[in-house]
Amino acid sequence: MNEGLQQAEFKLLLIDDDEVDVMTFQRALKKSDLKYSLNICYNAVETLSTIETNTFDCIFLDYLLPGIDGLQLLRKLRDMSINTPVAVMTSQGDEKIAVEMIKNGAFDYFTKNDITPDKISKVVLSAVRLWDAERQRQIAERKIIENNSRLNAILESTRNLIYAFDRNLNLISFNSSFKENLEHLLRENGLVKTDINLRDIPIHEDRKVTLIDNIEKCFLGEQFTVLEQVSFSNDNNKEIPWYETTFNPIINGNGDVTGVAIYSQDVTEKKKIEHDLLQAKNDAIAAAQAKSEFLSNMSHEIRTPMNAIIGLTELLLEEKFEGTNLENIKSIKYSADNLLVIINDILDFSKIEAGKVTFENIDFDLRHRMNELRKTFEHRTKEKGLDFIIDVNSDVPSAIKGDPYRLNQILFNLVGNAIKFTSEGYIKVLVKISQKTDNQINLQFTIRDSGIGIPASQQSKIFESFTQANTDTTRKYGGTGLGLAITKNLVQLQGGDIGIESEVGVGTSFIVNIPYSNGVEANLEKNIQKKEELSDLSSLNILLVEDNIMNQFVAKQFFKKWNNELIIANHGAEAITILRERDDVDLVLMDLQMPEMSGFQAAEIIRGANTVVKNPNIPIIALSADAFLETRRKVIEAGMNDYVTKPFKPEELYSKILKYTQEAAQE
Ligand code: ADP
Repeated sequence: MNEGLQQAEFKLLLIDDDEVDVMTFQRALKKSDLKYSLNICYNAVETLSTIETNTFDCIFLDYLLPGIDGLQLLRKLRDMSINTPVAVMTSQGDEKIAVEMIKNGAFDYFTKNDITPDKISKVVLSAVRLWDAERQRQIAERKIIENNSRLNAILESTRNLIYAFDRNLNLISFNSSFKENLEHLLRENGLVKTDINLRDIPIHEDRKVTLIDNIEKCFLGEQFTVLEQVSFSNDNNKEIPWYETTFNPIINGNGDVTGVAIYSQDVTEKKKIEHDLLQAKNDAIAAAQAKSEFLSNMSHEIRTPMNAIIGLTELLLEEKFEGTNLENIKSIKYSADNLLVIINDILDFSKIEAGKVTFENIDFDLRHRMNELRKTFEHRTKEKGLDFIIDVNSDVPSAIKGDPYRLNQILFNLVGNAIKFTSEGYIKVLVKISQKTDNQINLQFTIRDSGIGIPASQQSKIFESFTQANTDTTRKYGGTGLGLAITKNLVQLQGGDIGIESEVGVGTSFIVNIPYSNGVEANLEKNIQKKEELSDLSSLNILLVEDNIMNQFVAKQFFKKWNNELIIANHGAEAITILRERDDVDLVLMDLQMPEMSGFQAAEIIRGANTVVKNPNIPIIALSADAFLETRRKVIEAGMNDYVTKPFKPEELYSKILKYTQEAAQE
């Protein structure tokens, strides 16, 4: 016997009208080993009022009571939802009655002859056990009901379709959304059904096959999602909705898949939005590309006539003009130079937007670069009466590896701005090491001015393209608002960063950090350009291949100064004809974009295996308004020796001509 049960005190109720029986029961109970409290009721009325105010572990009920029989009383108790276990006591030979009582919810019976201590204690203990089990079952049942209603609430909380099939493809569960769709479909097909098998659902045969395939796949235990177009209607004019459908195996306690739950979400709207977004994105990309291309083409086109203007002005400046005339020519040159800077900015900007910027990685002399910077801006600072100080910390090595041209561009931009926005005081450029490892050296450039400053609210905005700190900036100082956007991009694309410290009326500092590699001293550009004595090229025959008459004219003027009469070809094919006939040409200056035959094609023919020219190794220098690194690469690939951008700097062109003709002479 269970120890715990034996020690508990049981609350018992005896319902019996016979004094003798009651005494017999009490005596037997006393002799049992139970701890108990006992209430005794002699009739039905007493019983009902007692039971209303007390709870019992077990009720002993005499079948024969005055005015009411045990069966009626039992039913009454059950109607009052009193589920306490009831044991029925009958007289000898009343087994039939006992069976009826048990059918109506009594749990045990015994005859009055059988009232012994042992019998009573057995009945009580099994009643308690039963009662306990019953209570557990009720709790479990309540939990199941709660669970079900929770699940149901979840199922019904969505307009999406939720449904499930068993292994025989019978529909076993669904939410009302699914039900609506299904009913609609059945009605449309004149069907009325309650038990539904997937095979009977009137959907398109292909769709049914796919659905069955997916369900079978899911029965293997795998959860997955598919995107599908599903029609629940036979109306062909209706747009067929898109569904994202997840198949989920239903697994029982033994780990077996007993069904497949399907969750179908209508994603038609989402798909539409996605499609529109994609379309909008593509349109935007196309528009941006068109803009970039337009900017690039335009600036390219503008560079060509600029070339002529700048070249001719430079020539004029070498003549002996004086007074107002000289001032006017200088103004033309100044404006043309400015215009070229803007055009180059736009070109750069469109390159950056198109993600086409590339960087050199070469050894260069930092101090030499800073010297060039000083030379470039010395004049302008002097004119404005500003102190211009460049200070490179002594521990910064001269040999640095990275892109010197982009560094120039960054510093020129920032120093140019500093001068532009400062009317008195100073411009300082400070260079120091911000971090150093065995193979990396991070340099920090600070460009400080005592100019107008930038309000805090504008400081982050000025790095955006086409943005200026004040609306009247353009009117007062000019500019396009592109410089800092380009600068920031060039710094970041090299893995660096740019920051700003500024106070209105006090001045501005731009702080630029760029990671470089340590350079190799021996590789430094040896050409710390001694100003070449630009004088004489009279001994050379130089072929200029150029389709633009203006450019031909400008070039001719320069070369006249160097005592050289250029040979002119209007395009690549003409150049080939000349080189085929003449063996006395020393060098070719080759424009790239030309009608009939481009510079690239001409160079390839000259260098090609089946070349027809007299001297296939003739030095070729490309001349182009296009300043992109890619173009430089293509030039070298086509077999040309070097590259000079238009408008060309006379010294650069001159020294390159000398270099290649001298090299050729030594071979
Ligand atoms: P731009 O100079 O062509 O207008 P930038 O992108 O170079 O374009 O500069 C954007 C704006 O930032 C300038 O218009 C100016 O308002 C502000 N700015 C840049 N540098 C300075 C500076 N050193 N001092 C004061 N304002 C500056």
